[in-house]
Amino acid sequence: KGYAPIRQDYEDFYTRRMYYRIHDAFNRPIASAPNSEMKVLERTSTVVGGANGTQGLELTGGQKDVLNLGSYNYLGFAARDDYCTPRVLDTLKECGWSTCASRTQAGSSPIHRQLERAIADFLGKEDAIVLGMGFATNSMILPALIGKGSLIISDALNHASIVAGVRGSGAKVKVFEHNNPDSLEAVLRNAIAQGQPRSGRAWKKVLIVTEGIFSMEGEACELAGIVAVAKKYKAYVFLDEAHSIGALGKTGRGITEHAGVSTSDIDVMMGTFTKSFGAAGGYIASSRAVVQHLRDTSPAHISATAMSPPVAQQIISALTLIQGRDDVGDGRGQRKMDQLKQNANFFREGLEGMGLNVLGDQDSPVMPIMLFQPAKIPAFSRLCLQRGVAVVVVGFPATPLLSARCRICISASHTRAQLERALEVIDEVADLCGLKHFPQTK
Ligand code: PMP
Repeated sequence: KGYAPIRQDYEDFYTRRMYYRIHDAFNRPIASAPNSEMKVLERTSTVVGGANGTQGLELTGGQKDVLNLGSYNYLGFAARDDYCTPRVLDTLKECGWSTCASRTQAGSSPIHRQLERAIADFLGKEDAIVLGMGFATNSMILPALIGKGSLIISDALNHASIVAGVRGSGAKVKVFEHNNPDSLEAVLRNAIAQGQPRSGRAWKKVLIVTEGIFSMEGEACELAGIVAVAKKYKAYVFLDEAHSIGALGKTGRGITEHAGVSTSDIDVMMGTFTKSFGAAGGYIASSRAVVQHLRDTSPAHISATAMSPPVAQQIISALTLIQGRDDVGDGRGQRKMDQLKQNANFFREGLEGMGLNVLGDQDSPVMPIMLFQPAKIPAFSRLCLQRGVAVVVVGFPATPLLSARCRICISASHTRAQLERALEVIDEVADLCGLKHFPQTK
């Protein structure tokens, strides 16, 4: 009685939060798993860390190596690399771990500006700003860009960090049907016609917010359709490329390159360094005026400790390889990007060939396998782990009740033999769980 219905954006935020709880309950966080292999405690089946060590956890049982199909280490840069790692160690010796100050106090060092210039040039934007955390890049920058009297139109399945940012902005939020430009247009047309609540005045700004690859669906954004609607209604576009930068497009420039959309049509390009770059932090690349405004006003720049210099060096080095700059790395960056696509398409084809229901698009390194029934979540994950393959599983309320899934992430550092072995395991487990020959949902 008297309760307003839960708005979809709140609901989304809530369900995304629950996803992390479910993930924790069933699978335990895959703590820092830089390589394609990781270690698990045999007795508890708890994943404890990457191939480089046990991350300081106390071990009570024996260990065994398992194949990691759950981390976002798309290009394999989170592992040791003979171009990146020595440079990171040199920076560590020279600058230490932390600036222990924000960018506007004593925390700005030339390496931050070098990284910002490199990202802006890579994306063909006038300038960029980098922050120490990807989540904070969305949740803190969106409120600095837009506020009361403005309108945000957000994809129904946008990430929790975006939901936090749009809610914190004070702007009116409307949600459009996931990845559907027609729904975007309908919602936008309606909201523009109505204007601001009560006053009916025109919105100060209208911002469309979407992602390059959706992390729970593995789908590439319908960017061309979304940009066309944005142009028609003179709305701004904010694009989160956490999963697509470095992973999509022939030269790793993300969803814009993949979809044939010019970066000049995207007003605010956001991304994280925690996936393809194997590092930490986030960026915003945009016009000089927008980036300057963020430098002048965003508490995430003014009041938060600057990105760690060795982290900045890791990103600069990985980006140098991705761009094949200075003739370094024998074209290794390009080979990694090609390998990622080959691996992803090989694995997707293998899963589909088994008659499994697999979501997502060609070239996407994220591929959810539909389990449907929630009861299959723990069974699928444990049976895989017993056979040496660690996966992430997701269910209600992060997904509709009967849309539980296992979310596979492929890396360029997976070998063909590892992927073949993983397909054998999934084939066997899918039989045990009765997952084959469901009608395709695509
Ligand atoms: N945006 C999206 C789409 C994400 O999936 C994530 C996290 N995986 C983030 C932002 C937050 O990034 P980070 O983990 O680097 O803080």
